[in-house]
Amino acid sequence: MTIQTSNLGFPRLGRKREWKKAIEGYWANKYDLTTLNQQLTDLHKENLLLQKNYNLSSVPVGDFSLYDHILDTSLLFNIIPERFQGREVNDDLLFDIARGNKEHVASALIKWFNTNYHYIVPEWDKAEPKLNHNVLLERFNYAQSLNVDAHPVIVGPITFVALSKGGHQSFEEKVNTLLPLYKEVLQSLVDAGAPYIQIDEPILVTDDSKDYETITQAAYDYFADAGLSDHLVIQTYFERVNLQFLNGLPVKGLGLDFVHDHGFNLQQIKDGVLDRNKVLYAGIIDGRNVWAADIEAKKSLIETLQNYTNDLVIQPSSSLLHVPVSLDDETLDTSIAEGLSFATEKLDELDALKRLFNDNDDRKYNELKTRYARFQEQSFKNLDYDFEKVRTSRQSPFKERKKAQDERLNLPDLPTTTIGSFPQSQEVRKYRADWKNNRITDAAYEAFLKNEIARWIKIQEDIGLDVFVHGEFERNDMVEFFGEKLQGFLVTKFGWVQSYGSRAVKPPVIYGDVKWTEPLTVKETLYAQSLTDKPVKGMLTGPVTILNWSFERVDLPREEVQDQIALAINEEVLALEEAGIQIIQVDEPALREGLPLRSEYHEAYLEKAVRSFKLATSSVADATQIHTHMCYSQFGQIIHAIYDLDADVISIETSRSHGDLIQDFEDITYDLGIGLGVYDIHSPRIPTEAEITEAIHRALQEIDRSLFWVNPDCGLKTRKEDEVKEALSVLVNSVEKLRKSTNSAAV
Ligand code: GLN
Ligand code: ZN
Repeated sequence: MTIQTSNLGFPRLGRKREWKKAIEGYWANKYDLTTLNQQLTDLHKENLLLQKNYNLSSVPVGDFSLYDHILDTSLLFNIIPERFQGREVNDDLLFDIARGNKEHVASALIKWFNTNYHYIVPEWDKAEPKLNHNVLLERFNYAQSLNVDAHPVIVGPITFVALSKGGHQSFEEKVNTLLPLYKEVLQSLVDAGAPYIQIDEPILVTDDSKDYETITQAAYDYFADAGLSDHLVIQTYFERVNLQFLNGLPVKGLGLDFVHDHGFNLQQIKDGVLDRNKVLYAGIIDGRNVWAADIEAKKSLIETLQNYTNDLVIQPSSSLLHVPVSLDDETLDTSIAEGLSFATEKLDELDALKRLFNDNDDRKYNELKTRYARFQEQSFKNLDYDFEKVRTSRQSPFKERKKAQDERLNLPDLPTTTIGSFPQSQEVRKYRADWKNNRITDAAYEAFLKNEIARWIKIQEDIGLDVFVHGEFERNDMVEFFGEKLQGFLVTKFGWVQSYGSRAVKPPVIYGDVKWTEPLTVKETLYAQSLTDKPVKGMLTGPVTILNWSFERVDLPREEVQDQIALAINEEVLALEEAGIQIIQVDEPALREGLPLRSEYHEAYLEKAVRSFKLATSSVADATQIHTHMCYSQFGQIIHAIYDLDADVISIETSRSHGDLIQDFEDITYDLGIGLGVYDIHSPRIPTEAEITEAIHRALQEIDRSLFWVNPDCGLKTRKEDEVKEALSVLVNSVEKLRKSTNSAAV
């Protein structure tokens, strides 16, 4: 039996983030829409031809987008947010919905399942679904004109509706409204010669998948009645499915993830659940990590799968949107580079397997096999860790610590502070880039940093904040910065991955044992502290977040890697304490997003997260105050774990949730320090005193005043200097008035 290869989606960004630059150039009015579209078409072409080079049996189309593929689908079906309705449906409308404009706020961004990609949430309020310009067909025709064997990709109706919000209709009603529109699009693609259409239904791998079965059955029956069943492949990823159910759907093929399924998809196949006549689209190459495949193991997986289907297509486990494009442009140490595999290298792995099975051509296969073995032979497990010798809980309970801290810090009622970063101005970014590219000396760079720190210490003094920060000017990114300095991490040059819209992140790669070798943040923090009598907070990223926002090694259990990072952060915490820093903040903004998709894994995940955080932070003296920060407010089921972190103060986002937080914190009587984000830093808008005062009042009804801090929602690095100064002054003025009014009331 011959096997075929396919792909689910390719990174949009381009090898050197050309996509981002093209789009941002248009936003900055550097050229018009025609020019932008020309640039993007060129990029799309490059992506298609690049994939074709790897001999793929079919290349996906519909993954490429101007911003986000879910937003594309919303526009295709005219699910336009009410406030943007009445305008022509075109690219400018698309950008406005995604980014907001002068009159209207943008649509919400939400994390795409458990990845770091964010999609634009479709809004149903007053939506009038109909078919707009069929961009998908256009892109498919374009691929054909390039002689690329392609298949269209579209998010399926069940997942689309499940990820959307608003509207008075029921779930079923929404799906039913969309079905005729889907049918028309699918039919147009079939007519245009599409060999099959990949319908992404990742919602079917979640805890809730059972609830969707009836409507899923009805939807795909509808397509079957329209004569489409031989053309549709239901694609899932990120977790296991209920194969019994999927097997009963009238479609040509099923796409399953065999990497992130905890072994359950394979087990169901072995149990004989799959109908042999369905095409099995087997996701066997990890689409989310950057390690070269164990090609021998993949070969035997294929052999196993062949026993259970007549028709096998091998492909990555998910879209390659989640990995960088290519290793070609990197200049990495070859001994490590050999072990890596970005998007194009993954396609090469598929090609090697296809040649092996179909043509008895084992040249590439053997090459990859040798390379993999060579990489495995190197030992990246060199270090011994004594986890036992580091504390996993503070010396005294919170009440006692608080006493010691209050005596030492002597802070006023309702202390004010910020979350860490100050504006990363053009100048800051330029200095850092110049320094990285050796255009300026270390001394010149350091002098600039000192100057910037000093300037912002003065600004904080003038505004009248109580606890200062140094501003994080030396950091490009809160994870990459630590990746660059800790042993065991590798930082790539072009390893960018789209996070949302034009925003990309460059996760460091953890390849070896993590170790702290020298202070990472002490110099800047101490310098800031030397300029003021107010306490300056040390600013670190926590182990859970560092791991979550890195490409992690797979040769060790995850929790062990996380604990190694925790020990490294613990060293830095102690170095800061030793240097006299009295407050240390360990940020964990990724703690919640790392939560596994299936709830059966939640408890174990949270337990390990708490342990790692405590390893990182428990060794300090009672009088040293540990803060943590998370940029969201819906804690819900994880609130107990948050409490278990035992941080002296937690700062969280609340301004956009209008007090929702209070409920979660009330439910467990949260009696540790808590800093409330009283204004939204994502908007350039300056908050009013009334708003801030009201937010504080509302919170104080639930939270003990002696535990309460006042701060912005998150770091201020994306804001302009003037905005920051103005907003923080409003914050401090509001608090000062509150202090006065309460004092006079007490008299
Ligand atoms: N300390 C970081 C900052 O202020 C926190 C960022 C975050 O929570 N994402 O930028
Ligand atoms: Zn934040």
